[in-house]
Amino acid sequence: MMTKKAAMTPSIKTSNLSKAEKVACPKCDAELKFYRSDKPHIDECGFESYSFKCSACGSTLAGIIDPADDKLLLTVSP
Ligand SMILES: [Zn+2]
Repeated sequence: MMTKKAAMTPSIKTSNLSKAEKVACPKCDAELKFYRSDKPHIDECGFESYSFKCSACGSTLAGIIDPADDKLLLTVSP
């Protein structure tokens, strides 16, 4: 058992709204900014899903929020 002080800070609760997260384009590895929405689209599997374009290579990217760790998982859309 570890004592986690970080778990008590309120910043964790507010950090996923309107805050830019850095993600890497899975195709060209460019660094992109990603903003969570407070009214996200939920796909048919119940995942919070996003789609946007890479500003560097123009690929259409599809992302879902991993419910386990709240991280964006990005894939290149065909
Ligand atoms: Zn790219």
